Amino acid sequence: MSVLFVVGLGPGDTTHLTQQAKKAIEKSSIVCGYRTYIQQIEGLIKDKIVYSNSMGGEVERVKKAVLSAKEGYITSLVSGGDASIYGMASLAYEIGFGVVDIVVVAGVTAALSCSARLGAPISDDLAVISMSDLLTPWEIIKKRIEAVNIGDFVCAVYNPKSKNRTKQIEYALNRFYDSRGDLLCGVVKDCCRESEAVRIFPISEFDYDFVDMRSTVIVGNTQTYIKQGKLITPRGYGV
Ligand code: SAH
Repeated sequence: MSVLFVVGLGPGDTTHLTQQAKKAIEKSSIVCGYRTYIQQIEGLIKDKIVYSNSMGGEVERVKKAVLSAKEGYITSLVSGGDASIYGMASLAYEIGFGVVDIVVVAGVTAALSCSARLGAPISDDLAVISMSDLLTPWEIIKKRIEAVNIGDFVCAVYNPKSKNRTKQIEYALNRFYDSRGDLLCGVVKDCCRESEAVRIFPISEFDYDFVDMRSTVIVGNTQTYIKQGKLITPRGYGV
């Protein structure tokens, strides 16, 4: 069977692209991906056939990638960050299982690159949650928000806001506040890209206007503190 690589590109610049990811792309003659992510690796794909489309075209894109691989062209289907975190990895299996050999290549997901920018906010158990109710019903997302409260998890919030979807992050932070108090939040916008911006505030001073769909919000747990501009969640060494 021919190979379909499902490749996580990391957050932005090519220094965050793993060597495995680079190798997979180099081996491929066809590269499929969302337009923004294709732009992210322009320098690597000059000699390749590229299939890119816009948001909403995921199923079509994955079908195209599976078909290309089935026809014998080594193909890379690329996602930002890691392909299994709100990316194309599961869809590739759903469509391509038994048709092509699928190889998932791990990438640096936004929670990790953004955490590094903020200091060390993820040093204890972490919950990852998306505010997008496009594929997951809002009622389920609400239950997961409560589960984060019950476990006092550090929480990485993906897809916090889009043009038409603005209230979910406010709801989540209000629920965190009501349940656990004025937790510290770090926001990284465009992590590892030219326009990168980093802000830290408690929930009570959270600037909702700063957040957009290119941002990740990391909400600390009740132990998280701020020191010289860095967010730190202690592991419990007691130093
Ligand atoms: N597969 C991606 C996530 C895709 S969902 C990954 O593993 O990172 C899209 C969301 O990811 C965005 O709304 C944002 O919350 C987050 N994100 C992706 N890239 C980012 C970046 N460079 N800086 C900040 N957040 C990012």
